[in-house]
Amino acid sequence: MNRRDTASPDTAVTLALGEDYPELRHSVRRICEGFPGEYWRDLDDKRAYPTEFVQALTKSGFLGALIPEEYGGAGLPLRAAAVILEEINASGCTASPAHAQMYIMGTLLRHGNEKQKQRYLPGIASGELRLQAFGVTEPTTGSDTTQLKTRAVRQGDHYIVNGQKVWTSRALHSDLMLLLARTTPREQVKKRTEGLSVFLVDLRKAKGNGIEIRPIKALINHNTTEVFIENLKVPVEDLIGEEGQGFRYILDGMNAERILVASECVGDGRWLLKKGVDYANERRVFERPIGQNQGVQFPLARAYAELEAADLMCRRAAALFDAGRPCGADANIAKLLASEATWKAADTALQTHGGFGFAQEYDIERKWREARIYQTAPISTNLVLAYVAQHVLGLPRSY
Ligand SMILES: Cc1cc2nc3c(=O)[nH]c(=O)nc-3n(C[C@H](O)[C@H](O)[C@H](O)COP(=O)(O)OP(=O)(O)OC[C@H]3O[C@@H](n4cnc5c(N)ncnc54)[C@H](O)[C@@H]3O)c2cc1C
Repeated sequence: MNRRDTASPDTAVTLALGEDYPELRHSVRRICEGFPGEYWRDLDDKRAYPTEFVQALTKSGFLGALIPEEYGGAGLPLRAAAVILEEINASGCTASPAHAQMYIMGTLLRHGNEKQKQRYLPGIASGELRLQAFGVTEPTTGSDTTQLKTRAVRQGDHYIVNGQKVWTSRALHSDLMLLLARTTPREQVKKRTEGLSVFLVDLRKAKGNGIEIRPIKALINHNTTEVFIENLKVPVEDLIGEEGQGFRYILDGMNAERILVASECVGDGRWLLKKGVDYANERRVFERPIGQNQGVQFPLARAYAELEAADLMCRRAAALFDAGRPCGADANIAKLLASEATWKAADTALQTHGGFGFAQEYDIERKWREARIYQTAPISTNLVLAYVAQHVLGLPRSY
């Protein structure tokens, strides 16, 4: 078995069990108490962005958790950031409108030059600058990222960019966008992963000057958009790292993203499960609590067991990441298991609530819809399985 991308059995990392970061969890919960179900329902109805919620998180410094202290952030480990996102969702709030501000900057932090870091990171840490948009997915090439069609051609001290992105979430609520584009045509590179580059695009200047953003109406209120790029001028100083190495830089950030998203799933699952259990205890039909029936309690017990297992995988992946160890397989597996466990918890909570699960005022249907996304984004389940099959089990590449 080829275990080159997973933790070796002798990997010495510390895995926190029980309530890790209790003070952090407590602070997050206190903020979330100010944003009850009605707040999120109202936003859902209006398809609006939770500006006040994101501002409250920013003010408390949570979104700058991963930015080193020298750039104005809190310099916390990834596990702490994961706990913040988990608690937000476990409180019934939704972390996704804010989560990207935490981790998109990782590409800039790891691969940007000092001038770029000084220019952007302090503003991102304070929330003055919103870096929440990540333009990778394209309508015609989807999961086959290296085939993306957006082209950036150097002309003097600028690149001229043309192309289209889809599902670029929060682009209308972001000052900056991390953009992946091809700088060397596919035919002129040895490996398809070469010739792609990453740019930090200033959307404040670009909107109406080469970039047009259109919202997509979707199953969930995710503020996601289509981005049309036509003759956009991007200054050479906004290229991150080396030209042609962008795919590698993006991959570097994906482990963090997967671990954080997996932790959000666990949070959602915990909230949904609690709602299901509370309702199963309270609701009396046939003169007894519905939770007394094994047909109602067993799915809840199973959902709990699966969430606990997913949580352990999230902790292991984060511990490896924080120890600087290879964690590609662990991050992917954490996201796979957490997304499936959460979906089970969501469906079980909905079923437990009977007809009331469909009533908006219970918030179950909203969280049920939100829990579904994790099996598709940021990477779909099949692509995770293909990765594990190839890179962990050593099976032939299937795509
Ligand atoms: C709400 C939402 C928000 C998003 N936010 C962002 C964002 O901010 N930035 C961004 O860049 N992207 C974003 N995405 C895009 C997301 O990452 C993609 O939707 C996802 O990666 C899948 O790509 P696709 O939709 O093109 O599906 P496709 O690649 O067309 O795949 C369709 C289906 O076929 C399966 N499939 C494809 N190829 C194979 C294969 N070889 N073997 C087995 N199965 C296969 C997939 O698993 C999937 O189930 C978002 C998507 C959504 C829905």
